[in-house]
Amino acid sequence: MIEVTAVDAFEDNYIWIVRQKGNANVAIVDPGDEDPVLHYLHENALIPEAILITHHHRDHTGGIEGLLQHFQVPVYGPRLERIPHMTHPLGEGDKVVLAHAQLEFQVLDVPGHTKGHISYYGHDSLFCGDALFTAGCGRIFEGTPEQMHNSLTKFASLPDHSYIYCAHEYTLANLRFARIVEPDNTLISQRYQETAAANARGEGTVPALLSLEKATNPFLRSHINIVHAAAERFSQQKLDSDADVFATVRRWKDSLD
Ligand SMILES: [Zn+2]
Repeated sequence: MIEVTAVDAFEDNYIWIVRQKGNANVAIVDPGDEDPVLHYLHENALIPEAILITHHHRDHTGGIEGLLQHFQVPVYGPRLERIPHMTHPLGEGDKVVLAHAQLEFQVLDVPGHTKGHISYYGHDSLFCGDALFTAGCGRIFEGTPEQMHNSLTKFASLPDHSYIYCAHEYTLANLRFARIVEPDNTLISQRYQETAAANARGEGTVPALLSLEKATNPFLRSHINIVHAAAERFSQQKLDSDADVFATVRRWKDSLD
C-alpha cells in the first residue's frame, strides 16, 4: 500500500510525498516550494529518492533548486519542457522505477495545459499536475483544446478505482461550474454539499476516485447527451464532436472565471 501525503504550498498547491507504508524513501511530486517539503521530510525522518515534475510552471518547480541543496536526487520531468536540473527527460511509455522507495510509475503525455505536460501513473494513483483537476481541468495555455480533450480521454481510460492526485484544491469552485452545466445531476449536487462541508472543516478533497470524476466532472463528460446539449445552448451552435463539446465547455468556464 502506498501512502501519499499532501504538503501544502502557497494558496492552494499540493506537493505530494509518495512512499510505500513503512518505507522511509520517498518521491516528491511537483515541489513548487522547498521549505514546507524540507520541514515535512525532517519531521518524519524521510529520505527523498527522486523529484517528479509534471510541467514547467514555477509553482511546480520552484523548490527543486532548494531541495537539491540538501539532497542529491534525480529530477524526472517532461522531455519537451525546460525543467531546472532535470536529469531524466520523460515521455509517453517511459517508466520511472525507484528501487529504494519501491515505486514504479508509467509516464503519460497529456499536453494541453502546457505543451509537454506529463503525468505519472502507478499504484492505482495518478499524479496529473494541472492537466486534470478534481471536478475540473487545467486551463489551456500552450496546447489546443483538441490536445487537452485527448489527454483527458486518456485519463478516463484508466481503471475506475484510480485516485486522482492533482496539484491544486479547486474542487468547490469547479463543482459550482459543474452544477451550471448539469443542474439536474444529483451526484454533482451531492458532491458539492460534501465538498463545501469538508472545506468548512478545513479539509481538502484531493484525491478523488476516477469513477467519481467520470460521474461529476464536466470535462470528462463531453460524450454525455446532457453536457452536449448544454454546450450547444451556451455556444448557440450545433457541435459535431466530443472534442468540440469539450472545447466549448472549457471556453464556457473561462468566460466565468
Ligand atoms: Zn500549471
